[in-house]
Amino acid sequence: QQRELCDLARLIEEVLILTGKDLSKHRIHVETRFLARPVIWAVPGQIEQILVNLIINARQAMPEGGRLRIEVRDNPKTDMVEIEIADTGVGIPPQQLRLIFEPFFTTKQPDEYGRGGTGLGLSVCRQIIEQHQGRIRVESIVGKGSTFTVKLPKRLPED
Ligand code: ADP
Ligand code: MG
Repeated sequence: QQRELCDLARLIEEVLILTGKDLSKHRIHVETRFLARPVIWAVPGQIEQILVNLIINARQAMPEGGRLRIEVRDNPKTDMVEIEIADTGVGIPPQQLRLIFEPFFTTKQPDEYGRGGTGLGLSVCRQIIEQHQGRIRVESIVGKGSTFTVKLPKRLPED
């Protein structure tokens, strides 16, 4: 797959158009904050996939509704762009924090159709981010919410 110069804020806006109806149906209020409008060197469909996975996880963590905040920051010192995706959901117990990026780790129970979590969303995110020379980390407080931070290189013209 081909990398191209992508306007990160635009990718986020596109994903929010796709997921917006589902989020408002679940009474999730979305706040975006673009403190920078960086261009990244990336496969746009893969970046959208990361965003969708993180947004759907956030939604599922807020069964009673809540707030989803997406912030884009530029770090001029490191040439990295930071995307913060924060929810006011159930949070993640500390002992699970190191497991959630493992393939097939899920805490989601099967629903009436037998569909639970695949446990693949975050492992796919991590794989894509690493292919883009980026990093992902999480901070979470049980009962308060979780914040995922994705760092991606602004552009890698040498690739
Ligand atoms: P799945 O969503 O299929 O369970 P993921 O890899 O996307 O798989 O996530 C793995 C697990 O990490 C989830 O089952 C859940 O326990 C936890 N998790 C991920 N995102 C969040 C979040 N925003 N809030 C709370 N827990 C989360
Ligand atoms: Mg998931």
